[in-house]
Amino acid sequence: MMVGLINAIPVANKDEYKNVGVYIEHRGDEIKRSSLEMIGIGKQLARKINEKLLCVVIGDKVDGIAKEVGEYGCDIVLAAESPDLAEYRTMPYAQIIGDYIAEYKPNIFLLAATRNGRDLASRIAVKERTGITADCTVLDVDENRTLLANRPTYGESTLAEILCRNHRPQMATARPGTFTPAEKEKDHKYEIVKKKVNVDKNMLKKQIIKFIPKKATDLTAAKIVVAGGLGLGGPDGFKLLQDLADLIGGAVGSSRPPVDLGWITRDHQVGQTGQAVRPDLYVAVGISGKPQHVAGMKFSKVIISINKDPNAEINKISDYIIVEDYRKAVPALIDAIKNF
Ligand code: FAD
Repeated sequence: MMVGLINAIPVANKDEYKNVGVYIEHRGDEIKRSSLEMIGIGKQLARKINEKLLCVVIGDKVDGIAKEVGEYGCDIVLAAESPDLAEYRTMPYAQIIGDYIAEYKPNIFLLAATRNGRDLASRIAVKERTGITADCTVLDVDENRTLLANRPTYGESTLAEILCRNHRPQMATARPGTFTPAEKEKDHKYEIVKKKVNVDKNMLKKQIIKFIPKKATDLTAAKIVVAGGLGLGGPDGFKLLQDLADLIGGAVGSSRPPVDLGWITRDHQVGQTGQAVRPDLYVAVGISGKPQHVAGMKFSKVIISINKDPNAEINKISDYIIVEDYRKAVPALIDAIKNF
């Protein structure tokens, strides 16, 4: 049934499609880190095949963001502006991106696999009658301009390479925290194409009265993460980890079971269904190192494991291993750092 449906969609004329497109998420005047990562990988793909990077910025008063996106190495910034677009709105945002895709025909279109990115990606893919590879951790492009989209599968034990053979654009969402964020390029030349948008009020089904930001923990930006697992034995263990994190300028992370048990909130979760982090230092306390957890932290530069089991799987990927009950090891570490 599914195969029949896909085959029924006309094959795209691939020659009509060119360049790499990226959707940029921002809050006010700040580009989200996940979108900087998308600029980074988008730029890499576009340059490999000598094409341009197009970035879509949507919001109210987007001049500042559009300019910054250009400074990060985008070649053409497509900026859509309206007071009705100040906050994220699914339908008009999807419509605007779809219109840009119809007009500019990018060969590849990328979004970060954030809440908004996922919400948009599926709608855009349906509208454009193309496929999408979700939650990629490796993205490359070959000499035929085919996107090589890799995503973990079978509980992170395998990487599946998924190709979009017949339809365009080739769409993918990418797991936040996996790619290196773009850096500003001195004297990079870019063009901003701005348009004012009249939003169809029928698309604004809900009225936003006030935006109250949730104090969420963005672990992807942390240079040091001190993460706790089921081995902490209860929520109090996280207080001890917070003391250590405060002392060394880190953020507190968690494996999934403590989150499921309500010891700590979900925005602290690292792993396949949490955040992917790549800090300079990751301290894993009472975490066994199951593949679903390791998927989110294996790119950390230095890993220290504190675990009472000398054979814990996490030890295989750790640079330093402390085999000890964390209740002894962590206070000892705190004392040692204080007295250093
Ligand atoms: P455990 O595996 O129970 O390990 C506890 C560790 O603590 C052990 O190694 C033990 O030796 C040690 N320990 C015990 N007491 C002490 C002590 N006093 N001092 C020191 N060490 C001690 N998991 C994630 O983390 N993130 C995810 O995003 C995620 N997504 C998932 C998605 C799916 C689809 C599925 C099926 C699972 C997912 N999981 C995820 C769950 C994952 O499979 C593991 O169950 C989980 O990572 C194990 O957490 P843990 O290491 O904290 O617990």
